Amino acid sequence: MANHGKLQTILILCALVLGVAVGEWIFRSQGALPVESGWIFTGNLLLLRPLQMILIPLVVVAVMHGIASIGDPKQLGKLGLLVAGFYLGCMLCAATLGTVLVETIRPGDGLSPELSAQLLATGEGAYQSDATRLATLTANESTGITGAFKGILQQLLPKSPLGEAAAGNTIGVIVFSIFLGLGLAAGGERTARAREVIDGLFQAMLCVIQWILWMMPIGLFCFLVGIVGRVGLGSVAGPVGAYMLTVLLGLAIHGFLILPLLACFFARTNGWSFMWSVRKALFTGFATSSSNATLPVTVRECTGPGGCSPRATNFVIPLGATLNLDGTALYEAVAALFLFQLCGVDLTTSDLVIAVLTATLAAIGAAGIPSAGLVTLVIVVAAVNTSLEGRGVEKIPVSAIGIIIGVDRLLDMARTTINVWGDCVGAKIVTRLLPRET
Ligand code: ASP
Repeated sequence: MANHGKLQTILILCALVLGVAVGEWIFRSQGALPVESGWIFTGNLLLLRPLQMILIPLVVVAVMHGIASIGDPKQLGKLGLLVAGFYLGCMLCAATLGTVLVETIRPGDGLSPELSAQLLATGEGAYQSDATRLATLTANESTGITGAFKGILQQLLPKSPLGEAAAGNTIGVIVFSIFLGLGLAAGGERTARAREVIDGLFQAMLCVIQWILWMMPIGLFCFLVGIVGRVGLGSVAGPVGAYMLTVLLGLAIHGFLILPLLACFFARTNGWSFMWSVRKALFTGFATSSSNATLPVTVRECTGPGGCSPRATNFVIPLGATLNLDGTALYEAVAALFLFQLCGVDLTTSDLVIAVLTATLAAIGAAGIPSAGLVTLVIVVAAVNTSLEGRGVEKIPVSAIGIIIGVDRLLDMARTTINVWGDCVGAKIVTRLLPRET
């Protein structure tokens, strides 16, 4: 087993280096790859789709398994509040860190009016031509934060769990499974057999996830070639490059410093060695840009090498994959404020507070799927715009988001890694706080 783990890690690291090198070589020698290149298609086929295939069944089984073993609704309620508080605190902290960094580094400052106008025009073009996202972006802009939350509330009480499952809405499925898990616990002897079946199914799914993990290096390689081959490493230049570096710096501080320290403090464990033990989940998040698709691997790595208890993991990880997106909160704050800097708008402290709060809420509202953070970014821009309008300052066009669409996937990989890592830390902390299984 240990040797398998080592081999997988070596293969993943090789895929990382080779993927970037081959992608850059293709970009330089043959020009930019199309958005939906064969590389992305193969990555989807080998890694993303198998993980998506197991996602909903795993959520049902894992949540029922976790809830049934916690059992007591009172304890569950307390735990739920604690986890929600932890998630909210981490996301607020990440969004604040992003705001402080972008306001200190100011990657959007110092451009001549001509260059800034040219960037905005290019952004407008990219925004309008992105047919797949335009509809969602426009809808998010008009419904705003209230609309996003109405959507979440509706998902919280699903009409049909099967309908929610078919649509891939994990929140509704989690809520349904929580109720069923409580029923399983309340049934005592009468439901003992069903609990055994759930436990057996859970173990079987962990085996399937292990098989899928063998495709991870190939999937990661294909995704990296497709993405680096489309944007090229040269994109890390000029103001957009400075913006990317600001996001990456923030994610690095949050991921390598703040979260490990939280793990040391609250879970009494070495946060950095815990990070290494769940590395496959982090690499899967990086490769797939989807916390939801990574969920099966996160559950496996936390309960296996990560040493978290299954009942803490099975409760905390599915909720976290949908609601706890630290990396996204940080990214939304940096991205929105960068766009205001580019347009030469001076923001007051109250605008910055609005940016931190809406970035956090927009991250909670973002699904754990690729580019979800980009489409909820309009909510942050629109909120700051409203505050500017109130003071009679000219607002910025929402289409300015087009400036950062091109490089978004690279940042998405990095922020998803931090989103997954935040969930793992939550599971480790709850493992310590939950009384031992009897
Ligand atoms: N891709 C991210 C995730 O799945 C969400 C985002 O776009 O920020 O966690």
